[in-house]
This record gives sequence, structure tokens and C-alpha cells, in this order.
Amino acid sequence: MALEKYREKRNFSKTPEPKGSPSAGRKSTSKNEPRFFCVQKHLASHLHYDFRLEHNGVLLSWAIPKGPALDPSVKRLAMHVEDHPIEYGSFEGVIPEGYGAGIVMLWDVGTWMPEVEDVDAALKKGDLKFRLDGYKLKGSWVLVRTRGPRDPSGRSWLLIKHHDEWSGAVDITEFAPKSVKSEGDFEDILASDTPAIWKSNRPAKGGATGAMLNEIIEKAAALKAGAASKGRGQSSEGRGQKAEGRQTAAPIKKTTKMAAATKKPAAKRR
Ligand code: MN
Repeated sequence: MALEKYREKRNFSKTPEPKGSPSAGRKSTSKNEPRFFCVQKHLASHLHYDFRLEHNGVLLSWAIPKGPALDPSVKRLAMHVEDHPIEYGSFEGVIPEGYGAGIVMLWDVGTWMPEVEDVDAALKKGDLKFRLDGYKLKGSWVLVRTRGPRDPSGRSWLLIKHHDEWSGAVDITEFAPKSVKSEGDFEDILASDTPAIWKSNRPAKGGATGAMLNEIIEKAAALKAGAASKGRGQSSEGRGQKAEGRQTAAPIKKTTKMAAATKKPAAKRR
């Protein structure tokens, strides 16, 4: 699949998302070369995690409502969505309106390698085994398609962690909730972007997502106000003070395994 669907859904005069140039991606990926992968935490109409694997010049993409789980007994629903351009892999920011309106955080990034001979055949079969080497996600995983009477579309897959030294009971989305790019949370991304848009053109959202969004907008506004009152030169200090009132990531106890899991990936993107 090329990028037509990706482009059809978006108005590039209104979104900061990359359009993607045809020459940016490689046409094929050689067998033993690590490929790029990323996970983008996306607060849109619902919070989800967009899981993307580089393959033949595009990013194959799955939207995972609950995010990846390191526990092999936990199967996470992953909806196959349109391919994204390679350039999307470094995107973090605010989509002010239109398709996917919300906040995008680069939650994990690194390289992947297939554990199958033929990726296209594995995708067609609906059983892709692979290894990840990211900041947060590592080791062996599988994506399995769950075609059945309840989902004739064939878009539903499951992301499952295999048992290995990188599997465990830690909830990685709670343990490591922030950006690997800016190190910030949603409110930091919003505050560093253009919150004026959100005041004038706030998407109507109810329920839990609306409440989460309102809270993030308030935190972002507070961060902005704090930064402004401290003056330009001391903006980071202002942010730090405001950050005291924020919730910190859950378990503080850091195991050796988790310390390793949050280190930089061994191999960086080419
Ligand atoms: Mn998304």
C-alpha cells in the first residue's frame, strides 16, 4: 500500500504532520539490516498508541487502544490502519483540527528485525514475528491477525510479547508514560506548541477523553503562564516549578531490567 490513504485523510495546509516524499523511503529493505520502528502515543478522540514498523519505504501502522504490554499473557488489540510516511516516525506535536486532531507524543523509537524469512508473506498470512530494540520495548513480539465472524474486515490484530528477558509484569505505559523525544508529557507538548488554537478551536469531546483533554489543556496553560512569568531566560525553571504539582509516573522502584529497558537502543536509525 502506498501513501494515498494517508494523504486523502489529511489537509496538509492545516496539519503539521509530514506529507511524505516519494523518495524518502527505501523501496525494499535488505534482509539483515535493522529497520526503523516507533510508537506514537496519540490523544485524539480516544487515547491510543500508534505502532509503526518500517517496511518497503513506508511505516506499516497499527492503532493499539491500550498500548503495548510486556506481559506475554496480555494480548493487546491492534487495529491495522493506513501506511504512514517514513518521516512521520519523528513527528511529535499538536494536530489542531481534522483527521486525528489531538496531541501526538513520540513514546518509543528504535529498530526492528523480522523473525521470519518473508515479511510480506507473514503479513499476508497474518502472523508476523519480530524483535524490537527501542528505549522501552525490546525483545521478541508477534502481531497476529484475528479474522473471524466478529471482524470480517481483517483489520484486527493482536500484539503479544513473547517470553524472554524483556517480558514481565510491569505496565510499561504507566512506568514510562513520557516522550522519548522531548521527555515531556502531553501538557508539555501542548504548551510548547500553539495552545491559542486550543482555546479558540477546542474539539468537542465528552467522557473520559474530554476530561483528560481539559486537564491537559489546563496544565499546558499553567506551564505557559509559569514560563512567561519567569521570563524567557528562565523558562525551564518555571516549568519545573509548575511540574511539582503534576502526577509522576507510577512505580518508582526501578529494576535492573527496567533500567536497561529505558536505555538508548543499541542501534540507531540509519
Ligand atoms: Mn493515531
